[in-house]
Amino acid sequence: IDESPLAELDASKVQCTYTEAPRSVPALGSAEMASQKVCTDHMIQAKWTAEEGWAAPTLQPYGPLSLAPTASCLHYATECFEGMKLYRGHDGKLRLFRPDLNCNRMLMSTNRIALPAFPPKELLKLIVKLCKTDGAKWLPKDRPGSFLYIRPTMIASDPALGVERPKEALLFVILCCFAPTGDLPGGMKLLASQDDMCRAWPGGFGYAKVGANYGPSLVAQGEARARGYHQILWLFGEDCTVTEAGASNFFVVWRTREGKLQIVTADLKERIVLDGVTRRSILELARTKLAPGHEDLEALEVVEHKFNIFELEEAAKEGRLVEAFATGTAWFVTPISQIHFRGNDIDVPMAKGQIGVYTDVVRTWLKGIMWGSDGMESHEWGYVV
Ligand code: PMP
Repeated sequence: IDESPLAELDASKVQCTYTEAPRSVPALGSAEMASQKVCTDHMIQAKWTAEEGWAAPTLQPYGPLSLAPTASCLHYATECFEGMKLYRGHDGKLRLFRPDLNCNRMLMSTNRIALPAFPPKELLKLIVKLCKTDGAKWLPKDRPGSFLYIRPTMIASDPALGVERPKEALLFVILCCFAPTGDLPGGMKLLASQDDMCRAWPGGFGYAKVGANYGPSLVAQGEARARGYHQILWLFGEDCTVTEAGASNFFVVWRTREGKLQIVTADLKERIVLDGVTRRSILELARTKLAPGHEDLEALEVVEHKFNIFELEEAAKEGRLVEAFATGTAWFVTPISQIHFRGNDIDVPMAKGQIGVYTDVVRTWLKGIMWGSDGMESHEWGYVV
């Protein structure tokens, strides 16, 4: 019996094959750029089997995967992924934003879906390798403020149809072109989810970034779009607990009846909310920089707590609702202007014309770290590639 331990994922073993058919970078503002279908020249792949563990990863030309029609991921949603960005800074540098958190979260997601474990640091090294290979060409220096979307993914590639723990898996990482995300004119409008649908539940998997959380949300999202809203505000349970907005975390700034100014977001205790990197970063910045009072802004209390939509509605009616915003890698920090709930609109004030002052402050800090500006060029959360 071979008792040697299974091979670990090891980025230092990466085998590189460079493309002989380099493709052209889409022009800014082109339909191709906006299509979200154009990826860079290369991708990372790493195969895992239950017998041997991880094979040496490869950096290879970007291209289609070959999968058996019986592959586990195509039937049983044995799939998880991450979402992060590679930013071309205003100072010319390429940066990731807290990529260690995404790699840790990817491991947590693979655990939830019976996919193999790996050292998150090795995944990070592979992501960095791909970013170094394609970053300079695909994010030219004359496009400061642009980004590539990074999609690390793991799928169970077992060609056996049985419903069981995967015995084969494939990890891959791709870099996808995205048009710069502009502000939504007039803010983001949310449609609160109806009683007949919820995104996540205690004991489920809402806290993990598994594909199974996303496909089933698209019916509600499609309905929201058709009715003129941008995203669903996902409520949970009979008390209509506020959880997340689309694939973003949700924050509100309000004043309590006792007169305390608070910035509030759902806590993670029931595991029905994703531990967003942007969410966590805003909480940390708010605790150190906003809680004591910043420049001429009133000090506020930073609260991670369960709250419901009736409390939001009352705060709005009583003039205590100050701001609301959605946060995530894709939508960044987007001011929310309206929430539609059971036939009524909750209007959220949008100070300063288009963006609330607290929303603006956190957004400016994060932008500075991600794109190397506003004195945040060497912040520890900006990982220079
Ligand atoms: N919630 C959900 C359900 C998401 O898919 C995302 C995007 N990853 C977020 C919140 C925001 O997380 P992050 O700030 O890490 O992008």
